Amino acid sequence: MAIRQYAVIGLGRFGISVAQRLHEAGQEVLGIDINEERVEEAESFVTHAVIADTTEEDALKSVGISNFDRVIVAIGNDMQSSILTVLLLKELGVKKVIAKALDKHHGKVLEKVGADWVIYPEKDMGERVANQLLSPNMLNYIELSHEYNIEEILIPESMAENSLRELDIRAKYNVSAIAVVRDGNVIISPSPNEIIHKGDMLVLIGSREDLSDFSNL
Ligand code: ADP
Repeated sequence: MAIRQYAVIGLGRFGISVAQRLHEAGQEVLGIDINEERVEEAESFVTHAVIADTTEEDALKSVGISNFDRVIVAIGNDMQSSILTVLLLKELGVKKVIAKALDKHHGKVLEKVGADWVIYPEKDMGERVANQLLSPNMLNYIELSHEYNIEEILIPESMAENSLRELDIRAKYNVSAIAVVRDGNVIISPSPNEIIHKGDMLVLIGSREDLSDFSNL
């Protein structure tokens, strides 16, 4: 995996969890917070951590913010600081700014001032939980559009010990298998002769409705 330089601004619960995961994956992560205690707490989870008020242009310049590939603005409740920070980051030429929004009005303003990707953690997590409840066998998904998804679905036991050709998933369920996940290994573009075993997961592409039917088999 390519090593990128990330900066995470705002080391609350959300910011720390983003920073920690990136750091664990071997990426370079600078953590920034206005609060000294938060910075100290974060030190073991990031490559470097600094105290700075990111609504001050000079503070951003002094950490060399424009050299970072991606900057995540995880400032929570202080909307004004979050908006001003995003605005300054874009003015300073940061290519990709990812910002957390509290609600849709906040999100709209963040987009207007140049955020490249706005996330709504609570809304997104709520949707994930609801989707998981609706399709208990679905473990992971990517939304391709409002209509189509890619989903990782645990196969029903009744399908085990058949080849993909025998299962004929595309004709019967109108979804296509693009990979098989077995014991943590991924078999990409599986051959029609691949035998599916109990506990296997299929990565399927199709309409949400067809995928939901499959995951409720
Ligand atoms: P969470 O809900 O993810 O815990 P918080 O609102 O508690 O979010 O955390 C946001 C963090 O952003 C806090 O640690 C706060 O100190 C930090 N923060 C707020 N304003 C600024 C600012 N102007 N510059 C840098 N960090 C800031």
